[in-house]
Amino acid sequence: MSALPDGPEDRLRRLTTIWSRAVYPVTSTSLTRVEFEDLLRPLADRLSELLRARSFDAEGARAVGAALVTAHCTDPEALSRSLDCVDAYLVLYCGGDGPQDELRMRSSRLQHAMAAGYAHALRARTLAEQESVAQAALRAQGVVAQALHASEARFRAVFEGAAIGIGIADLDGNILQVNEALTRMFGLTEQALRGRRVLDWTHPEDAPQTWRLYEELVSGDREHYHVEKAFNRPDGTALWTNLTVSLLRDPDGVPQYQLAMVEDTTERRLLNLRLRYEATHDALTGLPNRTLFFERLEKALAAGEGQRFGLCYLDLDGFKTINDSLGHAAGDRLLVEVADRLQSCATAPGEMVARLGGDEFVALTTGPGTQREVDELAERIMHALTGPISIDGRDLMVRGSLGIVEGPAGERTAAEVLRSADITMYRAKSAGGNRAETADAESDARAITRHALTTALPAALERGEFFIEYQPLVHLGDGSVRGAEALVRWLHPQHGVLGPDRFIPLAEDTGLIVPLGRWVLEESIRQARVWGERYGADDTPLRINVNLSPCQLGHPQLVQDTVEILERTGVAPDALCLEVTESALIGADDDLLKPLRRLAEMGVDIALDDFGTGYSNLANLRRLPVNVLKLDRSFTQGMQQFPADPVDLKIVEGIVSLAHSLDLAVTVEGVETGAQAEQLRILGCDTAQGWYYARPGPPENLHRLALVDTTG
Ligand code: C2E
Ligand code: MG
Ligand code: MG
Repeated sequence: MSALPDGPEDRLRRLTTIWSRAVYPVTSTSLTRVEFEDLLRPLADRLSELLRARSFDAEGARAVGAALVTAHCTDPEALSRSLDCVDAYLVLYCGGDGPQDELRMRSSRLQHAMAAGYAHALRARTLAEQESVAQAALRAQGVVAQALHASEARFRAVFEGAAIGIGIADLDGNILQVNEALTRMFGLTEQALRGRRVLDWTHPEDAPQTWRLYEELVSGDREHYHVEKAFNRPDGTALWTNLTVSLLRDPDGVPQYQLAMVEDTTERRLLNLRLRYEATHDALTGLPNRTLFFERLEKALAAGEGQRFGLCYLDLDGFKTINDSLGHAAGDRLLVEVADRLQSCATAPGEMVARLGGDEFVALTTGPGTQREVDELAERIMHALTGPISIDGRDLMVRGSLGIVEGPAGERTAAEVLRSADITMYRAKSAGGNRAETADAESDARAITRHALTTALPAALERGEFFIEYQPLVHLGDGSVRGAEALVRWLHPQHGVLGPDRFIPLAEDTGLIVPLGRWVLEESIRQARVWGERYGADDTPLRINVNLSPCQLGHPQLVQDTVEILERTGVAPDALCLEVTESALIGADDDLLKPLRRLAEMGVDIALDDFGTGYSNLANLRRLPVNVLKLDRSFTQGMQQFPADPVDLKIVEGIVSLAHSLDLAVTVEGVETGAQAEQLRILGCDTAQGWYYARPGPPENLHRLALVDTTG
């Protein structure tokens, strides 16, 4: 992406320039482009204010739409281009660092209101235009007595030259005269039109009052009426119009003719339908989006007595890994396939599926029987996810965590329901994923929302609420402790100890991972020095493994910070091992690998963590500056039963021999039994980590273990 302009003023000016460049060419105005841009400036200003307002109200954008009409931007293309521009640049230039999801939703609702204001103003303007034509016609009639010919000529000029369609019929509905614009709209010759009767023009979509108003007019009880009306064209398409009909009386006031003025709104109507569709549907999957889902949910919650709702909130498990390792295009295709499958789960009336964003989907069911229906819906969804999805010739397994909320209408707001669904979904995820959980009020009350944790993170770091547990790494050959992995925890003042799975993703999203990661690094290296001073004088020093997030990897200070900490503490680089996940390195270009390479050259070990969970290419390993492979827990789990699955054994054996031939050491994670440890030793793994040896714990535990091993 190109760099953003500096200040908010600059950004706003930039937005205005882009907007005026897009719209000026389709606007019939006598202004210069610079003057036109000045005209748009306050509109952009207003949109920016609305976007960032503390309490959001999209209605203000109607005035912006109306102002476009006043500025003569009445070509439908002008609206469509304006909306495209707002869609692409408003959040980017005016959103600041607010939450992207919320900003995007606001932007789409602003566009919707803008389009509505635009359509409304355009209609009002056309009606005013029609009114003045009618006045001219009536004036012409009024002067008939004095200057019949002159006024007749003037009337004909208005009649023929008008851009809107005009027709005159008698009070029985026989059409007497039509202008050229009207023949063009209907796609009929003047002759053919003149043979018609007004009463033949009923249409299935006529509003109920249409023909009552007509009767009142021809019987002289009404002077005019406006309706929106459709007509059938000879080619079978519908002509949509704003129709104004006025009664013409003779000089004595006796009703004589009816005068119809017809504005073709077909295009605008299609545009409106399209805009409405785009504002309420997700471009990737075609599913209803968050905006439409909220509308439906709010409607369901406002339904009367006896009505209920059921909601399934789905978040895919491990979607980020797929995106990171196979690329966004593959991720997108996966989402489209998931969307199709979900859609087929909710086809009954009152059911809908929507995409909330990212890999989050919702399914809604409404009516009196949702208590039973929602469980069936959840089952259908979980079942629909089971079959593999084939992308680029690979069969991917998708799993999801589902939160179910069900209840009567009229008790909670949409936001409360969604919060409960989110909490419940998260509960399913924490329990290992690939399952559905049902909401209950008690866990809702206890639950900590991700939002609350995110906002508490920065202060937590300042207040020193984080601490580190160490889990020993044991040599499989002789059982000696070789080092430990540092695993960070958060001692939250209200919620107790939280594991990294709860907050590392949040810290990554907000960038706090950089200072947090630096703290972990410094703290663990300091600990390694303490161990070095107390024990490892003669034999190999205890080494420390520290996890690095992908964001830290891309941070320009990484190498400098690490070197500085090592020097300050006096710990040798080869006592440090940095763990990076496989998915962070797959597809990494040389620039991203450069800092790791520099660290490796200095003697720091680099381990590829959770190996085997991504979709990596083994041949790729040669490119990476890595000297340790950490096999993911899932491999070890396969060895729990006895005898172990022979295929699992073969896979691990293969990986180990490949790793060794590339000069990589192999560490295994999640060793829980002695049998596993023995098996892995036979397969040639070098070091191991797991509950069999020790759970992660305070640094003193390691002192004890290391002492036992080295002395005993
Ligand atoms: P990891 O690096 O793969 O860490 C190993 C995880 O496996 C740890 O979970 C550990 O407690 C758990 N584990 C160890 N032995 C066993 C066993 O025998 N059985 C089972 N079932 N589990 C075992 P933990 O502490 O919850 O950490 C989760 C992940 O959070 C880590 O996975 C690591 O990716 C990340 N993490 C932890 N500390 C940091 C940190 O300081 N920075 C960053 N960026 N990530 C961290
Ligand atoms: Mg690790
Ligand atoms: Mg791991």
